[in-house]
Amino acid sequence: MPSFSPSFLVPPGFSTDCVLNEGDRAVLDIRATSVSCACPGCGAISVRVHSRYSRRLADLPISGRRVVLILRARRFRCEAPSCARHIFAERFDNDVLKPWARRTARLDQIVHCLALALGGRPAASFSRRLCIPVSNDTLLRAVRKRGASTFPPPSVIGIDDWAWRRNQRYGTLICDLERRKTIALLPDRELATAQVWLAAQPQIGVVARDRGGGYGLAAQKALPNAVQVADRWHLMENASQAFLDAVRKSMRDIRAAVGAATINPELLTSAEKLQYEGFKRREETNAAILAMSKEGATIKQIVRRAGYSRGLVRKVLRGQRSDIFRVRSSSLEAYLPWLDEQWAAGRCNGSELWRALKSQGFRGCLRVVSEWSGRRRRSEKMDASALGRAPSARTVARLMTLGRDQLSKAETVTVAAIEGGVERLVHAREAVAAFQNMIRRKAPAELGPWIENAKTTLVASFANGVTKDIAAVTAAITSGWSNGQTEGQICKLKLVKRQMYGRGKLDLLQARVIGFG
Ligand SMILES: [Zn+2]
Repeated sequence: MPSFSPSFLVPPGFSTDCVLNEGDRAVLDIRATSVSCACPGCGAISVRVHSRYSRRLADLPISGRRVVLILRARRFRCEAPSCARHIFAERFDNDVLKPWARRTARLDQIVHCLALALGGRPAASFSRRLCIPVSNDTLLRAVRKRGASTFPPPSVIGIDDWAWRRNQRYGTLICDLERRKTIALLPDRELATAQVWLAAQPQIGVVARDRGGGYGLAAQKALPNAVQVADRWHLMENASQAFLDAVRKSMRDIRAAVGAATINPELLTSAEKLQYEGFKRREETNAAILAMSKEGATIKQIVRRAGYSRGLVRKVLRGQRSDIFRVRSSSLEAYLPWLDEQWAAGRCNGSELWRALKSQGFRGCLRVVSEWSGRRRRSEKMDASALGRAPSARTVARLMTLGRDQLSKAETVTVAAIEGGVERLVHAREAVAAFQNMIRRKAPAELGPWIENAKTTLVASFANGVTKDIAAVTAAITSGWSNGQTEGQICKLKLVKRQMYGRGKLDLLQARVIGFG
């Protein structure tokens, strides 16, 4: 094995003549080991040295010291008769040292990575600790210089907008869905801008984009043969929004239904029935999901087969969902009938009840009883105030779509009153649920009948929108591509933007997001 030589410290192709210690710096005198050099003008190899000069270069630190390389570089004569360059400066491999560089390529690489990962100012302070003193400007320049990084031509892309500044200025983000990488940031969300970018990538076969907005049109103009896929996540959101709109349109009827309702035994019975039905449905769902999983189905397969959301399936499989029903065994349980009696008779003081219970053998502390009485008092208040005052549209939409057994008694009574009084809303809810189910189950054959049915409900305008974009919606149901990833990339972009303290210029953002995407 060869013994260690100072030449091992410098980039390949150079040898070290001498190493000097200058305080916090190591200074290495180096020269190239080759005897000849190719003329950059004509390519002829020359061995005739004209003169020498010094280049001062920064290199990777050694043992906690900055490193300065003093390169004795040569000027060569070009002897090719037809070449206009008579003299040329020694050139090196670009992977080692670029023509006018003041840092070795390997140091430049680190500087570039630092700038991409941390942004200018934080990277500048961090680089000092690494003994690579570079200024903020240098770091930003390093990013800019390599900014226009190339990417393999994508064939499946996601396109979406992102906010430079919320509600003020928007840009466009394009993501290679196969390689899961951001490949472009466009300065705005204009149709023409997107169209120009897309037209330069004629090999793109699939474009995932949200409904509405100009991206569909841009893709159609630039890539008439590409399949357009409506973004599934946005479709689900749009469907929920459509139901909320339906609720808003029905607020007058809802108020009337809720206001007219009195807590009569019939309504209570129907509320209880709702709750019980919800509970039963939930148990059935759990059993069905668990059975499929027992047969070895993956979460993805269960979502597709049964049409439940991914989050729900995961919760059931983790056993988190049944917890909601598990009656918490309470030390109070045995005394509840007696407590109910006392309560009905007007004895509602927690500590009095606790003392009485203790004399009957109850071992729990006062808090158990006072919490029970507090809960009891609250639920009575809610029952009294819940009716006569309709909740907001958003709340109604949420209550009507929530699992029934997750509702409190008062909420269930409200929902029962609305369902009894505003039947159209029940149809709208069913239509929205059917749509979301269809997407999860990937059942495109149901789309036509669904549209026909939904057009007769309160979500007709949503159904009309789907009709206008039917090819892309069908593709969303059948294709595996969705913009979900693009959402993730936008989150990453926001993070980078924040790190740049909101002053990010597009090329810097682009370099950082794409370089590290
Ligand atoms: Zn030449």
